[in-house]
Order: sequence, then structure tokens, then C-alpha cells
Amino acid sequence: MQAPRIDRLHLASLTAPAGHPSAGAAIEVFAYLVRHGDLTLLVDTGMGDDSGFLDKLYAAKRTGLATALKAVGVNIEDIDAVVNSHLHFDHCGGNRLFPDAPIYMQAREREAARALHYTVENWVAPEGVTIREVDGDHQIAPGLTLLFTPGHTPGHQSLLVETPNGSLMVGAQVAYTAAEFEAGGDVAEAHEGMGETYRASIERLKSLAPRCVFFSHDRREWPG
Ligand SMILES: [Zn+2]
Repeated sequence: MQAPRIDRLHLASLTAPAGHPSAGAAIEVFAYLVRHGDLTLLVDTGMGDDSGFLDKLYAAKRTGLATALKAVGVNIEDIDAVVNSHLHFDHCGGNRLFPDAPIYMQAREREAARALHYTVENWVAPEGVTIREVDGDHQIAPGLTLLFTPGHTPGHQSLLVETPNGSLMVGAQVAYTAAEFEAGGDVAEAHEGMGETYRASIERLKSLAPRCVFFSHDRREWPG
């Protein structure tokens, strides 16, 4: 049995386009590989490779998932389960690569993602994949628990990974950066009308006293 381990995968460098709240800023896109007991999980799948429109709009420099996984010693086929923290285009684009692993997403998130311009619709649940919709917190296996952390989106979720020396968390986009997480959350990062919920989700993760929290768009960890 291997010691629990989390590896950061850098899947893309983007540039926020004109009209984006942080136009011109660099956006780094990370996914996380979680090895725990006999299970290998992937949290988020980056942006898809078939949208010339988004590639151009965001000046995307992408690394394929297979390449990023290889770098940490894993093949696509080794992934036992996939978690989508939420369904924005930079978090679910590689779902189609995992026909043999259940893909966990919150039911509320899937519902929200049906709104116009929320995501690239056919990246969420392409033919051949198995979607596992969950409603709130959900234990995937002992020591691996999805935590419902809405705010950035209506159905955002994080992953709690218990280890013999305290817990680790893939917070994902519960906050945009580690510094913002530390400060309690900038409501500008929240889905419309969900500012309070956003801050409450950050508070909730902190209250669980994790040893380390990892983020989707910041290579720094909390508490650092
Ligand atoms: Zn994102």
C-alpha cells in the first residue's frame, strides 16, 4: 500500500481575454493526481483540445493530459475515478478520455452547467463516459471524501484526502489563490449572488484543519 500522495499537473497557460474581469492576466490551469491506498484519482481534466475558438480567445498553451500524467508515472488507463471540481471549460475538457472511470460531479453543478455560455456542453458528459452525480458531501472510499463547497459555482466541490499525518485537500477553485484563501475569500470570485456562500465554503475547509490545500489556478499551497 502506497503512502497517500498528491501531484500537481500543469495542464495549460492561458491569457485572460479582453472583457474578462482580469483581462491580460496569466491564468495557469492545474489538475491534481491523488494516490490513496489502491486508488488513483484525477481531480479536474483541464480544457479540451478541440476548441480552436477557446484556444485562440485565451491564447492557450496546453499540455495533453496523457503527457502530464506520464510525467508523474501514470497512464490514462490507471485512473480509477475522476472528479470535476466544477464544470467551467478549464476543468472538464478532458472528461472524454476516461470511458473506464466514473466521473464524479455535483448534481447541482450539472444542472447549473446547462445555462447558456456556462461551459462547453459536449465536454461535460461526452458519449461513452459514466457520470456519477452526487448531492452534497460524498465518500468515494475510506479517506477520500468529496466536500460540497459551493460559491465559485453553484455546485463546486473539493476533495478531502486523509493521511496518517493529517488531511490534505484539493480545494480546487474554492478560492482562486492561496493568499485569497488565507484572507477569507474575495467575493468577486463568486458566482453571481453567492458571495457569502463562497466565503462560508472557505471557512468550512479551514475549520477541518487541513495540513495542506491545493488550488486549481495557483501553484502555491495553503498555508504555504
Ligand atoms: Zn477555473
